[in-house]
Order: sequence, then structure tokens, then C-alpha cells
Amino acid sequence: MNEQELFEAIYETILNRTAKYDGQYYIGITSTKIFCRPSCRSRTPKRKNVRVYRSIQEAIDAGFRACKRCKPEVSGKHGPDAEMAERVKQLIHHQYKEALTLNAMAQQLAISPYHLLRVFKRVTGLTPSKYLMTHRISEAKKLLLADQKAIAQVAAETGFSNPPHFSSVFKKMAGCSPHEYREKTAEEGERLK
Ligand SMILES: [Zn+2]
Repeated sequence: MNEQELFEAIYETILNRTAKYDGQYYIGITSTKIFCRPSCRSRTPKRKNVRVYRSIQEAIDAGFRACKRCKPEVSGKHGPDAEMAERVKQLIHHQYKEALTLNAMAQQLAISPYHLLRVFKRVTGLTPSKYLMTHRISEAKKLLLADQKAIAQVAAETGFSNPPHFSSVFKKMAGCSPHEYREKTAEEGERLK
């Protein structure tokens, strides 16, 4: 992409308010002397007033102040942190059937477990292990309703090596045992027919 194409691509995300370039580029708005994330929800700047910078420092050096609304200087919702949280989620969605620990996830993503935990929690509000358990239980619910598989089988297929542990986590999160969940939902299904 040449400079002009890059500018057009970024301006496109400004119009659509998409976060695609957040954390990679910053836009300075010459009419207000403020710089923003490209996805900032304040008023859409005119094309001729937009300058593109590759770093916060470049924008500051050019005389822009950080926008108070999208806080481009804070790594947060969009940008690299959100990307990392997204990669953790994808990893969990692909590997929840396996014994997945924080260390194993961190190793696969080549970051420290502490950093992974902190960033993931900041972006999603959940720890990776809580997110993993939530995902496992939601998959378990689907399996329980799909056919009459034994509970131990459902546990094994959703990453629980120990069926009693599965039942206790399930009960905590769903408010009833796996068996009750299956019965109750089947009954409700009957009633709706
Ligand atoms: Zn802004």
C-alpha cells in the first residue's frame, strides 16, 4: 500500500468507525489540534484536516493533544490489547477440550502468563480460566441437549478430566446439575410443542 492508499484505507475506517487500524495509526485533526484513534466516535473530520501518524510520539511532536474521548494514549479496548484478548479467545475456542492452563496459553502466544492474565482481564472483565470454564459449560449444555451421551462422556468432551469436578462447576454456573439441566430443558421443550 502506498501513502495515498493507506490514507484512503484509514479514512475509510474513520467514516465507518471501525477499529481495524487502532493501535497501529493515529490521526491528527488539524482543525482541532487533537489526535485520535481512527475509530473515535467524535465528529467525522474533513478529509483535508486529517493527518496520519504511526506513533503517539509523532502526533505529539507535530503539536497534537490526545483526544479525551477515545484516549489514544491508553492501550485499551481496541489496539494491541484487544487483539491479544481476541487471540486468547480463539485459542480457548479451539482447545477447550484439552487440559488448558494459563501457562500453556501464554507459551503458545509467546507472552508471559502474568501479562496475559492482566491484559485479558482488563479487556474482557474475566480471567482466562473463567472465560475457559464459561465456554466449556456452554459447549456442555449443547452436548447435553444434542443426544443422550453419558455425563462422564460430556465431561470428557468439554475438557474435564474428572466428572465430579465437571458436575460441580456445571452446577455453580448453570444453577442445576447436568442431569437436571437435561431433564428440565427436555420438559420445557415438550411443553412448547
Ligand atoms: Zn478521539
